[in-house]
Amino acid sequence: TSQVTTTRDNTPLLPNVKNIIAIASGKGGVGKSTTASNLAVALANSGAKVGLIDADISGPSVPTMFNVEAEQPAVKQENGKNIIIPIEQYGVKLMSIGFLTPSDSAVVWRGPMASSALKQFIADVEWGDLDYLLIDLPPGTSDIHLTMVQTIPVTGAVIVTTPQKVALADATKGLSMFRQAQINVPILGVVENMAYFTPEELPNNKYYLFGKEGGRRLADKFEVPFLGEIPIVQSIRESGDTGFPAVMKAGITEKAFSELAESVAR
Ligand code: ADP
Repeated sequence: TSQVTTTRDNTPLLPNVKNIIAIASGKGGVGKSTTASNLAVALANSGAKVGLIDADISGPSVPTMFNVEAEQPAVKQENGKNIIIPIEQYGVKLMSIGFLTPSDSAVVWRGPMASSALKQFIADVEWGDLDYLLIDLPPGTSDIHLTMVQTIPVTGAVIVTTPQKVALADATKGLSMFRQAQINVPILGVVENMAYFTPEELPNNKYYLFGKEGGRRLADKFEVPFLGEIPIVQSIRESGDTGFPAVMKAGITEKAFSELAESVAR
């Protein structure tokens, strides 16, 4: 496949972005967007310049998770071209497919439409200098994955899964897809989300609600790094819903996501 890594006037796309990291999952609802959002904020908190593209057409949740649902990105003209200014929140520059559609409308995104939206987010957004540009992909395999690798040089992919059997089966397909010749993106590692539950009143007890260490075994099987476990915590869900990423509050969640940011930065 030919790489479309230049614009029409032959300047490379995103020349000032050091690392482009895809956040992927085999299945929906495993916490991919939660991980992408908290990882973005954790990297920004560590002093990095960070952008996040929400390309999850199945349910763009970045506007909610960053409490910017009502915002509309500004557009400016540059050399006769429209340039979109990303929304900035908690030190992260954001673009979401959700900014293009009212949150309560049901838009049927056809593959080509979604792919052209992603291309626009890459080519027509003023990202500036970034250490990391994270891309929250739709679950599973789609045209978007192919568009992404044909448009920009992706540094690597982070695979999010829960330890549950059905999630692992789908994550296995996701991992294999990134290794296919057509896609061929290095896998930075596997994150196991909802790894265990610890009740506040029993801090030394861990309950493995979805099974134990499935994500770790998956990483071993594919000989990729295991990037860590994120527990099930009520505040992760609450903070996602209220638009205040959990990593911003000190505690077990902050520790888990900061450690993840360190592993990804390594
Ligand atoms: P995906 O992007 O994979 O579809 P989301 O990130 O949207 O998944 O997460 C699905 C739901 O689960 C959200 O309501 C989110 O707040 C919640 N959630 C994700 N991870 C956790 C966790 N570790 N603990 C508690 N709730 C979580």
